[in-house]
Amino acid sequence: MNGPAFALAPEPEPEAAEAARKLFEGPVDFLKGVVAMDGLPPADRPEFCLAGRSNVGKSTLINAMTRRRALARASNTPGRTQELNVFDIGGRLWMVDLPGYGFAKAPVKTVARWQALIRTYLAGRPNLRRVFVLIDSRHGPKPVDHEIMDLMDRAAVSFQAVLTKADKPKAADRDRAVEATVAALARHPAAFPEILLTSAETGEGLPALRAAAASLLDQAS
Ligand code: GDP
Repeated sequence: MNGPAFALAPEPEPEAAEAARKLFEGPVDFLKGVVAMDGLPPADRPEFCLAGRSNVGKSTLINAMTRRRALARASNTPGRTQELNVFDIGGRLWMVDLPGYGFAKAPVKTVARWQALIRTYLAGRPNLRRVFVLIDSRHGPKPVDHEIMDLMDRAAVSFQAVLTKADKPKAADRDRAVEATVAALARHPAAFPEILLTSAETGEGLPALRAAAASLLDQAS
């Protein structure tokens, strides 16, 4: 049997893009940062989260997606990034910003603690509909990205790859990163077939990312 064909996501339909734009440019509020599962809000609505290596461009992408300047703190200091940051998207969706992984300077104990939290969260949050895994379009997936994808396979949580900083690499390098991502995803049963290619700088791919997140509202639970 053939697996899914992985490819770049098409542009969303205009109505879907418009509805998603309204959702993300409408009321979006930071709810809280939590350090344990019991701090999370009730699992009473669909939820998605964003995961990625430190410096992948996650905070910048969250700000661009919601057209806010400083909704997500663009801070790479390990002490400030250990929390799961929860955002309320129009009272209809929870968006969770996971701590960046692979931060070389973080103490081993800290890394172990946040890895445990990420693992518990990914496996144990019943309303989690999709994880957006951010990958730098200059480099393609790194070993630590495979580790997080393995976790999601085991937890049977659907995840979608989002290539970031698409304005940075040369076209050939960018194409290579897309190909490497396609090859990587083929090895992960929990991977969603469409890859998003985004740039917070140019706005490329943001309508498709918003539409992908908003589509979770329509999914049966
Ligand atoms: P985080 O650690 O994943 O939250 O990463 P940040 O959002 O702090 O981004 C890391 C660095 O990449 C910052 O210097 C950003 O300005 C830069 N960056 C993020 N997104 C983009 C993008 O789309 N294009 C370009 N050219 N730079 C970006």
